[in-house]
Amino acid sequence: MSGRNFLFVPGPTNVPDRVLSAMHRAMEDHRSPVFPKLPLSIFPDLKKVFRTTEGQPFIFAATGTGMWEAALVNTCSPGDRLLAVRYGQFCHLFIDCAQRLGLQVDIIDVPWGEGAPPDKIEEALRKDTKHEYKGVLVVHNETATGVTSDIAAVRKAIDNAKHPALLYVDGVSSIGSLEFRMDDWGVDLAITGSQKGFMLPAGLGLIGVSQKALARRESAKLPRVFFDFGDQLKANATGYFPYTPPLTLLYGLRESLDMLLEEGLDNVYARHHRLAEGVRAAVRGWGLTVCAKDPKWNSDTVSAVMVPPGFDGAAVIATAFKKYNMALGAGLGQMAGKLFRIGHLGDVNELMLLGALAGAEMSMRDVGIAQVVPGSGVAAAEEYWRTGAAPQSAPPPAKSTEKRGAPAVAAR
Ligand SMILES: *Cc1c(COP(=O)(O)O)cnc(C)c1O
Repeated sequence: MSGRNFLFVPGPTNVPDRVLSAMHRAMEDHRSPVFPKLPLSIFPDLKKVFRTTEGQPFIFAATGTGMWEAALVNTCSPGDRLLAVRYGQFCHLFIDCAQRLGLQVDIIDVPWGEGAPPDKIEEALRKDTKHEYKGVLVVHNETATGVTSDIAAVRKAIDNAKHPALLYVDGVSSIGSLEFRMDDWGVDLAITGSQKGFMLPAGLGLIGVSQKALARRESAKLPRVFFDFGDQLKANATGYFPYTPPLTLLYGLRESLDMLLEEGLDNVYARHHRLAEGVRAAVRGWGLTVCAKDPKWNSDTVSAVMVPPGFDGAAVIATAFKKYNMALGAGLGQMAGKLFRIGHLGDVNELMLLGALAGAEMSMRDVGIAQVVPGSGVAAAEEYWRTGAAPQSAPPPAKSTEKRGAPAVAAR
């Protein structure tokens, strides 16, 4: 197929040309006397993106999933109890990781489309008068539903309950794109990976660890080898790694940190908000809704677009891929078939997103969602990005007389 594949899944994201060029390197000796210059320049800038001065950053050859494991094995002992909230597939998998490591997780289930409930967390922690909970697990941006939770409010809930539990935050689809403040929010383990906001290929697990969490290593008895923070601490101090680091990805990370810091983190967050608002204007223009049940939970990195009852979100995604060479995100877990997701994080701009919105619009009409008026979503996003103002209301539903292109597929 001619032209570029349109990659609009919420990770991996588009890798900017600058980063691609930076990674195009010959291998070199990671034990050489000049090698430390690279990691020693990366660690302080990584702390800036995590917004921590107190915390310790680590870089692993891994992905976000590996950082869940690293966070837990360095701070917990077999049988330890944790409190977790679940409102999407990534919450579910984080909990699953803890359970498979032999930890006991008490789960607060929240309807998918909502975010972390600080009041329920506070209530559960207050009841735990013996302080058996060693930690609270939260996903900052639930990528499966396009829901962003208020982590400052979760920290306040823990403090209100005067509970010593560590705060574990999955920031895989938020750090480097959405406002994330490790120190201000008292995050003890800030978990992310390279292939989303950092605009890199998958392959680096990145984690920020508070001093309080680092101190837990002494008493934490879960077995750990590859993910031991202690081995990293010793080697990183002089700019080395305990084993062979993924060199090209480190050069890529150096470049992506430069890009994020040159733009300015506050500008990065503002850009993601502006782009997301345009996408949400398009969704309203189609007469559809996002999965997030309240605007306060709207994610600025991914929008989960609910398809009307009787239609299959997977069919929209399959059509977009086959007919228009575009990748959209699938509905995961209990949202399978009910939605499709548009990733708007990392190296994207208005015109790239207009292409994605046009592709989604055409694909929806192709599968028979006739209420979607040609151009309606694209026009709404255009006007928002052009003027900064979204249309006040969605256009009236189409009085379509045309035949539906494809038979309706029952939503799962
Ligand atoms: C992508 C993602 C993960 C999983 O990360 P991998 O890098 O695929 O292991 C975890 N949590 C969230 C919120 C994600 O978006």
